[in-house]
Amino acid sequence: MSVTPVGGLHHVTAIAGPAQENLDFYAGVLGMRLVKKSVNQDDPGTYHLFYADAEGHPGTDLTFFPWSHMAQPRMGHGLSVEVSLTVPPGSLEFWSERLTRYGVRQDPIELRFGSRTLPLVDPHGLRVALVEAPDALTRTFAPWDDSPIVVERQIRGLESSRVWEHSLALTASFLTDVLGFRHLGTEGDWHRFAVGSGGTGEYLDVREVPSETRRGAWGVGSIHHLAWRVADEAEQLAVRSAVDGAGRRPTPVIDRFWFKSVYFLEPGGVLFELATDGPGFAVDEDPQHLGESLVLPPWLEGQRASIAANLPALTSPHPEA
Ligand code: ZN
Repeated sequence: MSVTPVGGLHHVTAIAGPAQENLDFYAGVLGMRLVKKSVNQDDPGTYHLFYADAEGHPGTDLTFFPWSHMAQPRMGHGLSVEVSLTVPPGSLEFWSERLTRYGVRQDPIELRFGSRTLPLVDPHGLRVALVEAPDALTRTFAPWDDSPIVVERQIRGLESSRVWEHSLALTASFLTDVLGFRHLGTEGDWHRFAVGSGGTGEYLDVREVPSETRRGAWGVGSIHHLAWRVADEAEQLAVRSAVDGAGRRPTPVIDRFWFKSVYFLEPGGVLFELATDGPGFAVDEDPQHLGESLVLPPWLEGQRASIAANLPALTSPHPEA
């Protein structure tokens, strides 16, 4: 049976603390564009905030559920522990200085698989890394003219994610045999897998943790799921069928309006999603005004007034010193 490979990261979704602080950091400090302000479709009492490039291209999108009521996450296997974003070559000194100015926790710049990398911790504990990637390797990127960051230094999109697993072999064979990844290399404890042409956004780094390590658990500052690109609904069904055949019990296709989604746990327990490239964030908003007003799925429109009244008010992002 031939494998239909997924097409790299579509989006990464994490759990945040208060929504305004999340907005201040990702739009105000990192300069990403808020391309969609919606609610969690399964929990409409809370926001779902989407940050991306100016046009919200698949592969540039980092999204958050601001679930302040949750406890701290428990680090452990079966959890994605970091997300990386690409920045232009030679820009990390600029970023390090900017993050210092706003009091952001960061580690020294290091080399990962040959790329200069700046690890940092967002205001709610999420581990994020900025990775310098050659322009030629950066996927479609639309600069945002209203960003506080000049175009030459803007975040370009997703680079990779890191996961902790109790069994490298189990996850590795699922990645290669079912989702079409290949093992690209090993550096220290980290095994890098790639799909597609192996450009930015097409990596997943896996670390096998010691056997006594506990199962990880979601909390404020943890990654909730990793979504992988599928070109269209036909491709989504083909990959879904392979996932089903591997015993991973995928959900039915769920319409998220900006894309269609299927969810399942990979063998180590990390929540994966298959998300279609289209129709995209401009399907229900003017591309010039993405993210400016609250967008609800059609079945919740009738409750707009009460939903909006229960959400915390959000003001324009302003970086907090
Ligand atoms: Zn998702």
